[in-house]
Amino acid sequence: MRKYKSILKKDKKLVQIACDWCGKKSGKDGFFEGGSGEISFGYGSKFDGANCKIDICDDCFEKYADKMAIRKMQKIDAEITAGKRKLMTSAEVLKLHPELKKW
Ligand SMILES: [Zn+2]
Repeated sequence: MRKYKSILKKDKKLVQIACDWCGKKSGKDGFFEGGSGEISFGYGSKFDGANCKIDICDDCFEKYADKMAIRKMQKIDAEITAGKRKLMTSAEVLKLHPELKKW
């Protein structure tokens, strides 16, 4: 025989979100000009299997995205300089992505 006890679950209401980078908070209406997400690090990585939830405002994301794009461009430039990556001609790009011919 099993006996159960009712446990009241306390409800939580989200009242504010703050950017994890700059601290910018949502307004009185609760509207947060930004986004939220979760990052899962792979096993064997520096953060081995950890999950991280982030809230980031539009401004910080824009800066972060720009920084990521610059790093990626720098990496590609370094690969081209080192001969590990070859620049494609427009004909090679169109052969690989014929859908771009429309443009
Ligand atoms: Zn921010």
